[in-house]
Amino acid sequence: MSDPAPLLDAETRLVALIGQPVTHSLSPLMHNVAFAAHGLNWRYAALPVAPGRVVEAVAGLRALSFAGANVTVPHKEAALPHVDRLTDRAKAIGALNTLFWDEGGALTGDNTDAAGFLAPLEEHAGALEGCHALLFGAGGAARAATYALLTSGFAPARLTLAARTPQRAERLAADLAPVGGDSALAVVPEAEAGEAVRSARLLVNATPQGMAPETGATPWPEAADFRAGQVAYDLVYTPRETRFLREAAAQGATPVGGLEMLVGQAAASYRRWTGRDMPAATVRHALRKHLGG
Ligand code: NAP
Repeated sequence: MSDPAPLLDAETRLVALIGQPVTHSLSPLMHNVAFAAHGLNWRYAALPVAPGRVVEAVAGLRALSFAGANVTVPHKEAALPHVDRLTDRAKAIGALNTLFWDEGGALTGDNTDAAGFLAPLEEHAGALEGCHALLFGAGGAARAATYALLTSGFAPARLTLAARTPQRAERLAADLAPVGGDSALAVVPEAEAGEAVRSARLLVNATPQGMAPETGATPWPEAADFRAGQVAYDLVYTPRETRFLREAAAQGATPVGGLEMLVGQAAASYRRWTGRDMPAATVRHALRKHLGG
């Protein structure tokens, strides 16, 4: 039997996840495993915060001297006006997922989803430089992914956003065009993305399609459009192998699952709070044990 977790004491530092729902979040597991591995007397707790109550929640974090927080659905945008300062990244993306105290004591909002998104793509950077990339979705994750791609060392020459609500994608494209440099941004309705699917070298699912329990769903059901030489990246991580990844891999594409983004964004938040590198191997091991496989 493993040792019981040491008790919290008067010096324990607390980090929160605020959102709703939070009960299935893997963040408490990742951060508590990391704190324990580093021997830090810190704890991470998932706190449900109803829509409309983010102002009180952020005020509470300040009043109770929390060491930091993650912010998730539905508060990522609503929290923006309630911090003292935003990083340029959070400002450009228009959403935050991390609160930390800067050196001057200002409560600062950052978005670590962008860094997390790029983490598993670095090894494909050479093949992806200047490519055509296609992103399904126009929500918060698509915003972070678009920002990440446009500001990466391998920015795409052409970035197509395929969305079931194209107006939302048009707003995303207009908001992020200023960081896009030479990248050309285009929007297509999701159902009309065939040409883009066939020509893109990077395909990203930034919608919940395929997430458990709807595992039969996929952003692109025409599996014959996938091909070798493509990287198919699904931000969904439950299940680890989605229909989108399975069908793309069957046509020779390289599949990338969402778990690495999850670890990547957690590692970037952890660094903000503790100043340390998250022990990623220990965290991955704990996640695999928890999720099975
Ligand atoms: P969101 O802000 O709610 O946006 C969801 C997007 O998907 C919207 O564009 C939405 O379209 C679209 N969408 C939803 N259901 C759809 C359907 N049935 N058919 C077509 N489009 C659909 O959510 P999000 O925060 O961007 O998250 C998106 C996915 O990424 C989730 O599965 C989330 O778990 C995953 N994610 C993973 C990580 C990671 O670390 N791996 C991080 C963040 C998010 P409408 O505008 O028409 O509603």
